[in-house]
Amino acid sequence: MSNETLATYMKVPHVFPFNYKTGYNIYNSVDSEFFNKTSVSLYSPSMVNPKHAPEGKSSLMLQTIVPYHWMNNWGGGDKTQYQQLKQKAMEAMIESTSSLIPGLKECIEFKDAATPLTYERFTQNTDGASSAWSWNPNKKFYKNTMSVNVGTQVKNLYIGSCWAMQIGGVPGALAAAYQCVKKIK
Ligand SMILES: Cc1cc2nc3c(=O)[nH]c(=O)nc-3n(C[C@H](O)[C@H](O)[C@H](O)COP(=O)(O)OP(=O)(O)OC[C@H]3O[C@@H](n4cnc5c(N)ncnc54)[C@H](O)[C@@H]3O)c2cc1C
Repeated sequence: MSNETLATYMKVPHVFPFNYKTGYNIYNSVDSEFFNKTSVSLYSPSMVNPKHAPEGKSSLMLQTIVPYHWMNNWGGGDKTQYQQLKQKAMEAMIESTSSLIPGLKECIEFKDAATPLTYERFTQNTDGASSAWSWNPNKKFYKNTMSVNVGTQVKNLYIGSCWAMQIGGVPGALAAAYQCVKKIK
């Protein structure tokens, strides 16, 4: 699909539809149909920069937040089961996005999927948390989820990364780095 065609369905590069289905529960890690019930966000890097896709084509990332340790942590260590679950999750997300972008499935020339285990491998964050600490409101490390906490119990040791904020992310990392600079300059 060309960037122009994709742009007729997505007016902006990042789109968050809220179309959760009945039975959706982010804390239900044994619901094998979770990916048919969740809402999927869309992000097209090639709409920001056409070089993020081969010439004349587009790129599209589908994302959703998944339950903690879905399906026995993605197959309980069995590689075949892991591949099957990954495939099932990917196809369900493509299927649900096809209701927003008709013909999406037929247009795909290359597809790949990443799971929390993938993020765990790349970031070494527990359970593949994308932005440092857990986002579960019942699992607070810092009292205030939005505060920046660069200090540690070790003198002159500061946290200049997303780990200084409960919800982490790029804004958390930037805010922490800024606070660190102010402390050490
Ligand atoms: C899939 C995914 C999607 C995300 N989406 C968003 C989003 O939409 N918005 C948002 O705000 N955040 C998002 N995040 C989170 C965001 O990317 C991180 O919170 C942020 O990049 C953390 O910045 P940081 O500087 O703390 O750490 P990092 O960006 O992880 O930087 C740490 C660096 O240190 C290097 N390093 C590690 N160990 C060593 C060592 N021993 N020696 C030398 N170097 C080392 C690493 O290679 C890395 O380059 C996402 C994360 C993921 C995984």
